[in-house]
Amino acid sequence: MTTPPGPTTQRLMLMRAAVLHGAEDIRMEEVPIPVPGSGEVVARVDVASVDFTDRKVFLRGQHPMIKVPGLFGHEWVGTITAVGPGVHGRWRPGQRVVAANSAPCPPVRRTPDSFGEADAVCRQCRRGRQSMCENIQYNNGAFAPYILVPSRLVRMNLYAIPADTPPERVVLTEPLACVVHAVRRVAIHPLDTVVILGAGPMGLLWVNALRRRYGPDLTIVSLDHADERLAVAKAMGAGYGLNSKGGNAQELLEAAVGRPDADVVVEVIGTVETHREALGLVGRGGTLVSFGGIVPGPTLPVDFGRLHYEEISIQPIYHHTPADVAEAVRQLVAGEVPVERLITARLPLSELRTALQMIGDRATLRPVLVPDR
Ligand SMILES: [Zn+2]
Repeated sequence: MTTPPGPTTQRLMLMRAAVLHGAEDIRMEEVPIPVPGSGEVVARVDVASVDFTDRKVFLRGQHPMIKVPGLFGHEWVGTITAVGPGVHGRWRPGQRVVAANSAPCPPVRRTPDSFGEADAVCRQCRRGRQSMCENIQYNNGAFAPYILVPSRLVRMNLYAIPADTPPERVVLTEPLACVVHAVRRVAIHPLDTVVILGAGPMGLLWVNALRRRYGPDLTIVSLDHADERLAVAKAMGAGYGLNSKGGNAQELLEAAVGRPDADVVVEVIGTVETHREALGLVGRGGTLVSFGGIVPGPTLPVDFGRLHYEEISIQPIYHHTPADVAEAVRQLVAGEVPVERLITARLPLSELRTALQMIGDRATLRPVLVPDR
């Protein structure tokens, strides 16, 4: 048996990539540069983004999205360097691309003899809830010089971007897709008051997405403990930036907008305590959007009498769908999102630990990693 020389030579080539081994145990290791299999694509990573989820995964050493030990990082923009067998036409080396970090069930190709294949698509995807896909496939490995894009992701969530679009402009595709998904699903009236609890990068994307979608009459309040973040919130569309550190959020809200509550309160931090605070700010007929993720376990008592008689809804929203990712790419390529206000630090890939520390210290909004050159 002989092996074709090309792939063998490639398989011997190594790269220095971040490998997560466990809680707070991340190592830059020599690993093989990936070689694309059937339907797969390999891309050179031009820029990767480090987010708060990466920080959480680093501290916990585990997450449903990642296998440990394993390659790390899920937000990236790159250039295709190799395509596997069966990848036709649309994808070719040299193309600039961005991908989501996951793919739900691919649609079944209906042919006369495909009877029964609907079972290959999970129940949640069949009922239109792709963010709840039971077979969702996650992809990691953005904190590396090269990344493998699995075939399902190539089919469902890989996007070409114009060659003249700076990679940094689209590197926030995945977080923006989560916001696009949520904003699409939350019922908001253009005259509502909306409070965004948390002015980190996600909260700021929320502020901006709401302003662009609902126009000038929507009252948008950003709540945070950091004045410099609140200033960015106002620059990105918030009518009010309130610092609730050491203060009473309801009183601050009343002083600012004339009422102590809001029609929609979006929790973008991801703790039980901030969910409690957010729920306390929801007024009659209002909605708490649970957007920040919490490790399952902790509980929060809820007054169901109040929920019933005041028709208060709790709407949790997680992740995104391919349509949301496509819309996020469109908005970013078109320059509709002022990402330059969010990307506040640039470090070489080898400084990943520093980037994770900066996020933990809230010393920067969003650091991005560029190749060591
Ligand atoms: Zn599915």
